[in-house]
Amino acid sequence: MQNKINILPDILINKIAAGEVVQRPVSVVKELVENSIDANATNITVIIKDGGKKLIEIIDDGDGMGYDDLLLSFERHATSKIKSFDDLSKISSMGFRGEALPSIASISRVEATSKLKDSDTANVIKIEGGVVIDVKPAAIAKSTSIKISDIFYNVPARRKFLKEARTEYRHIYSYMKKAALSHPNIGFSLVNDGKVSFEVRPQELKDRISSLFSEVSEDSLISVAGKLFDMTVSGYVGKKELARKTKDNQILFVNGRYVDNKVVSFAVFQAYKDMLEQGVYPFFILFISLPYSDVDVNVHPSKQEIKFNDENAVRRLVKDTIFNVLASQKSLVTFEGSDGLSELDNFADKIEEKVAEYDAKKVKEDKPNNTALFDADSFKADKPLVIDEPKEKKEKDESKSENPFYRPKKTGADILKFRSENIYKESVWQLHNKYIMLEVESGMAMIDQHVAQERIYFEKALKSFGNSKLSSQTLLFPVKVDMSYEDRLHLEEIMDYLTDIGFMIRHFGKNTFIIEGVPIGVETNEEEKELLDIIDYYKKYREKRMTVMESVAASYACKRSIKAGQKLTYDEIVSLVNDLFMCRYPHVCPHGRPIIVTLPLKEIDKKFGRI
Ligand code: ADP
Ligand code: MG
Repeated sequence: MQNKINILPDILINKIAAGEVVQRPVSVVKELVENSIDANATNITVIIKDGGKKLIEIIDDGDGMGYDDLLLSFERHATSKIKSFDDLSKISSMGFRGEALPSIASISRVEATSKLKDSDTANVIKIEGGVVIDVKPAAIAKSTSIKISDIFYNVPARRKFLKEARTEYRHIYSYMKKAALSHPNIGFSLVNDGKVSFEVRPQELKDRISSLFSEVSEDSLISVAGKLFDMTVSGYVGKKELARKTKDNQILFVNGRYVDNKVVSFAVFQAYKDMLEQGVYPFFILFISLPYSDVDVNVHPSKQEIKFNDENAVRRLVKDTIFNVLASQKSLVTFEGSDGLSELDNFADKIEEKVAEYDAKKVKEDKPNNTALFDADSFKADKPLVIDEPKEKKEKDESKSENPFYRPKKTGADILKFRSENIYKESVWQLHNKYIMLEVESGMAMIDQHVAQERIYFEKALKSFGNSKLSSQTLLFPVKVDMSYEDRLHLEEIMDYLTDIGFMIRHFGKNTFIIEGVPIGVETNEEEKELLDIIDYYKKYREKRMTVMESVAASYACKRSIKAGQKLTYDEIVSLVNDLFMCRYPHVCPHGRPIIVTLPLKEIDKKFGRI
């Protein structure tokens, strides 16, 4: 009896694989450009004729191939990029399956010329429908040129489905733009039917973006950078005016590869939410890097869709990073010349140094009435402090110690170079026991008292985990606390941090602990509840994948802050405002809600038809 099972010949296998790898001309462009990038090219030229149906030629100045490699590169599963199964988990090159060239060669006519970068001898290989026709010495100026003609000439069913040249070219153009964005250090030229579509030299990302998007000017871009666990995000988002009704200007690269991912688009959308009207999409060019093991790139053969193993973490990273930058741009206090987190961090680090310096000094001097946060001479700044005196009253009120508003001329806030926004003390008041209203030079600012205080305590706690531990009040009558086994484990996990923020807790056998001291401000008889509440908040935050440190700080902040609905005295309002402006990130609470909302005079005037 005749066998039913046949081993397929290579040419047929390649043709079948081509069905996956090559959908249309742009797939060929993509595979070849990625090969050039993998070969360390610094300049890549792409020449297209008739939408790629007649010709696709890629010329690069990369490493090139010697005679043997040139022949091997068209063999199935021939790749220089992986050698073992282990390599699969740490792929950093664009392609690695070793099937692109043989697949493409099986459905077109190929002429590939290459030489090793530093060699003089080049070779050319000609292949038709997967069959090698000729290999011989040749001449070439650059390292490698690969010409693909008459794509699908031997698969009429597929050729028939190719669209008009214009449409095929549109896909190629769109791919080339993304390749150019993801590799600003490489020069790219695209030539279509003899005309240069674009030509860019190696440059900085920001310049690359404005060379490729005619509507984008450099000052409509905001640089963003953030980090969470071992993931980072960086790139640019556009100011409001760059938002469009389509998603064309939302471009994401994950580990250098262009991908489509709804999680990220949605996270960006959330960060912009209250700035944009419905149905418009913000401009972004973002790069996310994360360990290769945390992402599955193979969910789709053309590799445009990916799945993150921890979508929540990615969402948080993207949303928080962008939200923070946007918030810092639109709120009352603007950081001069700063458009990225890194700069924000620099300022903030300086402040932290100063705070530590001050704390050290305070311990030495310990003057109770000294409201000066910083030594006036220790730094220079050109802008006045946030809270300032109305001009007429200045002289009279210079009597430092009993004036709650008195600050030496230069304070820590100056490091942030607040724009000349003065807040006048007569016009600070509380609205509905919930919001603090301030008259500022540019109009009006509103502060949500609860989230403001959360931010203040959050940063205080974080700082205490460093070197400036918070003070503690020793209890006259230590309190015994029995808890569940589960809570005990949590408590043990955060014990060190609790000590830093002012708790003194001793284990008393099994699931029992003794509280011997609490942070300043915890009321008598509230000690046990305070501790258990913090543990409860901690459990909640930990589930959201905050770090232990952040979770403890957020729990403490949540528990300690005044609730909305509490009447504040005038002095309390003032110190709240001052403390808030001393924060590293005064604009957003630890959960990402805005703290300060401003209402510019211009807007108010507009409402009254006064322009
Ligand atoms: P893969 O990229 O998955 O390895 P390909 O079929 O795309 O598979 O390419 C096969 C091999 O040919 C590559 O691994 C590389 O060694 C070589 N190659 C392809 N294009 C180039 C190029 N432009 N310059 C240098 N080497 C190349
Ligand atoms: Mg490849």
